Amino acid sequence: MSLTRNHNSNQYCDLCKYRWGQNKNGWDLRAMTPAVWKVQSETPLRKAQVRFYCQPCADDVQNWPDGTFYSLKEQLEDAINDFAGREKLNVELP
Ligand SMILES: [Zn+2]
Repeated sequence: MSLTRNHNSNQYCDLCKYRWGQNKNGWDLRAMTPAVWKVQSETPLRKAQVRFYCQPCADDVQNWPDGTFYSLKEQLEDAINDFAGREKLNVELP
């Protein structure tokens, strides 16, 4: 499981795509936000599940409505703990 910077500017944020979606002309302009973060998880059962986030969406998923800050790294680590060592930990911070 890894958290790395995305360097492919043609890769759009998954959350923005989910939020704004497509119209008859293709992706909504707001959905075409280049991703900054690449989150990749690997389990023995499911290989390389990848999610891309732009910075505002990464901030969104890290700042909870009750004011708690729950970083992507912590979220990854907690997810890893759920797998009780069956996942490989490889977190690269900015
Ligand atoms: Zn986004």
